Amino acid sequence: MVFVEAREMVKFIFITGGVLSSVGKGITTSSIGKMLQARGYSVSAMKIDPYVNVDAGTMNPFMHGEVFVTEDGGETDLDLGHYERFLDINLSKLSNITTGKVYASVIEKERKGEYLGQCVQIIPHVTDEIKSAIRSAAKSSGADVFLVEIGGTIGDIEGLPFLEAVRQMRLEEDARDTLFVHVALVPILNSTNEQKSKPCQHSVQEMRRIGIQPDLIVARCRVPLDRDVRRKIALFGSVPVEAVFTSYDAECLYQIPMNLDEQGMGEYIAKKLALNGRAPDWAPWISVVEEFMNASTPLRIAMCGKYTKLSDSYVSITEALKHAGAKVGCCVSTDWIETTQFEKDPSKVEQLGGYDGIMILPGFGSRGTEGKISAVHYARVNKKPLLGICYGFQLAVVEYARNVIGLEGANTTEVDPKTPHPVIDLLPEQKQLESLGGTMRLGSYRIIVEPGTMIHRLYNSDVVVERHRHRYEVNPKYWDLLRESGMVFSGWSEDRKRVEFLELPGHPFFLGTQSHPEFRSRPGRPSMPYLGFVSAAAGKPVARPA
Ligand code: GLN
Repeated sequence: MVFVEAREMVKFIFITGGVLSSVGKGITTSSIGKMLQARGYSVSAMKIDPYVNVDAGTMNPFMHGEVFVTEDGGETDLDLGHYERFLDINLSKLSNITTGKVYASVIEKERKGEYLGQCVQIIPHVTDEIKSAIRSAAKSSGADVFLVEIGGTIGDIEGLPFLEAVRQMRLEEDARDTLFVHVALVPILNSTNEQKSKPCQHSVQEMRRIGIQPDLIVARCRVPLDRDVRRKIALFGSVPVEAVFTSYDAECLYQIPMNLDEQGMGEYIAKKLALNGRAPDWAPWISVVEEFMNASTPLRIAMCGKYTKLSDSYVSITEALKHAGAKVGCCVSTDWIETTQFEKDPSKVEQLGGYDGIMILPGFGSRGTEGKISAVHYARVNKKPLLGICYGFQLAVVEYARNVIGLEGANTTEVDPKTPHPVIDLLPEQKQLESLGGTMRLGSYRIIVEPGTMIHRLYNSDVVVERHRHRYEVNPKYWDLLRESGMVFSGWSEDRKRVEFLELPGHPFFLGTQSHPEFRSRPGRPSMPYLGFVSAAAGKPVARPA
């Protein structure tokens, strides 16, 4: 960008967190990026996850939250989704490293003899590997400023090599090219309504013991910090009082960058990084946020799935629904429906009648699938708007095969490998695979959209790109039967070998997709399948087949 003059090196901002996990580092990281973008700088970001898994793909979303899929097919941490949505950028696999990935690379080099007989150690070999991963991700992003969020909490053993690596980077880079931001919780005691700064102080002290002095402290607190508490945190954290900010509760997530900037955070960061003092232009972002704030018509969506106890398991989907809602003036609320309950008591499916729309969520394995199929049946028969994503799409095919065509026992081979009617079956290239990590059909693929269909009207395009994450597909042997019985396949892979979209004419909105359009949805620019679904649920359909 033009604003960074005579400088080839990228600037780094490292974001750490303290006191507890889920303290809001991801949103703070995204907000810092937004403040810099508002000042005309290009920004990119990376998440470091200190767990030993090579990537998030093999982790249970119930424990870890959603697996976010990048354009290039990386199975990554959900924070990358926040970065993409706030900053409107597409990240790559390089933007998420884990202990597993770093060690895999170090061990591979060791086996190849690349360390020339040295004793391979955490310092310097593992830390060098970490620094090189950060620097090469920064370089390939081409950004002026590169944000590096370090997952976990200060004090975790597994985070230490990463903190050591970034501590070294501070010494190796120009003094004005690195910045440390520490985000820590400031709880408020119910009994006294007092803001308690001690956990935050301890967390900064722990960082300093490791050798890192934060430049900025962001207190995560329900309300803005009291002046005294701010002063105390500054004193014990050894930063000027102007370097302490509060990330307080906001009605809309996308307001947070402006809330922080109003406290002078963007200006402070720009000054510390010797970026020239350009005034921020928040106008485009404000108009996006206003859409969210003005969206008032309530819309209730039933989220039918299995990992429904942790809403982070589907964060890109809930955000995509909100993006679409904001566009049509609706405030979307989501209720998590464990579909296993429909299996135990089929009458419970009737509760779906109280919703404006029904989502059949992605997933794996057999638990809850019969319940999802019942939910699809309810939506189809009762003409409730339905959007089925990936597994939801596949189970919509199963429901149709069983209940419209009459193929008894039809199923996906994922649930019943011996089904007499395998309407959903493994992708041919998956049949020989033994390893589970990173081997699904992953990332962006072009989709051919059939003219004259509802989804074509929504996208208004013959070719679209969406991201994927699946092993199974609609079995080509059943295509004709399904089509002859009224199901419309409205989107295809480029080679026309797999079905990407299905819809049911005569139904107000019944759409399934093998892809995950939620990963490309942005505030202000919602995903079209979601926009179609939300509009139909709100009773103002955007597009209908001719
Ligand atoms: N389990 C299904 C498959 O592997 C669906 C995956 C998903 O919903 N992401 O194809």
